[in-house]
Amino acid sequence: MDQYAVFGNPVGHSKSPLIHSTFAKQTGESLAYQAVAVEPEQFSDRVEHFFQQGKGLNITVPFKQNAWQLAKFLTPRAKVAGAVNTLYLDAQGQLCGDNTDGIGMVSDLINNHQICLKDSRILILGAGGAVRGVLLPVLEQQPAVLTIVNRTAAKAVELAVLAEPYAADTRVKGGSYDELQGETFDLIINGTSASLQGELPPLPDQLLASGGCCYDMMYGPSETPFLLWGRSQGATHLIDGLGMLVEQAAESFSIWRGVKPNTQEVIEQVRAAL
Ligand code: NDP
Repeated sequence: MDQYAVFGNPVGHSKSPLIHSTFAKQTGESLAYQAVAVEPEQFSDRVEHFFQQGKGLNITVPFKQNAWQLAKFLTPRAKVAGAVNTLYLDAQGQLCGDNTDGIGMVSDLINNHQICLKDSRILILGAGGAVRGVLLPVLEQQPAVLTIVNRTAAKAVELAVLAEPYAADTRVKGGSYDELQGETFDLIINGTSASLQGELPPLPDQLLASGGCCYDMMYGPSETPFLLWGRSQGATHLIDGLGMLVEQAAESFSIWRGVKPNTQEVIEQVRAAL
């Protein structure tokens, strides 16, 4: 049976084995997928050893940058992301790295929630790895505005500079939360880890345009502080990151197996198990 795995540390909480085995059943693909905790100093050896027989790896915290360095070939979106969550071998046996997190989020917004990003005004909160990973797929949708703000404003400015060459007609800006006064956005994406600590970034009222949408990359059994804020601001769509998780997995599955699974039933199944 073809072998797949997710490498991370810790990785016991990972939903990837459940998601990929459900995809495999659904599509009739014969494969095994397991979660493997890897020690940091062994990461590159373990990857090399895995690919002596294995077909594909997902990479999660804290190894996404290590995988980026290890890959001999990077897709354009992985190059910009500075991180890799999907590894596979090409026909020449070369280790290839992709990043499916951003396309996962964009697919969730567009296909699962019918949110149109083209010509919209988008605000992203945070400037860590997850935000960097979504920049290129978001810009490919040609929004009118992409503003990135972060607690450490210099990091948001850095990401805006990185994104600028891919922006086409999108106005890209990076800065601090203080600079948001008087601005409005159609879509606000929370890419901070503030929700993990039960916190909310400092957002002014009137930030969300009428009919606007709030998206939190984090997910959990109950509404995050950011989504509660969105509710208080009259958001028409409140979406958490569970769909992003399943969609990024579907993209990896499709890279490995050449078959795109149906994500809707898997999203429902994973949500029921939260
Ligand atoms: P990082 O640690 O790389 O970045 C964390 C970011 O959050 C930084 O910008 C940091 O600001 C900011 N931050 C942390 N605490 C606060 C706070 N209290 N108030 C304001 N800003 C804060 O994390 P990642 O980028 O890897 O992950 C971010 C989130 O995205 C996590 O919640 C993670 O679970 C989620 N995620 C979801 C995925 C999915 O598939 N659904 C995939 C990947 C990530 P500063 O720079 O100032 O420290």
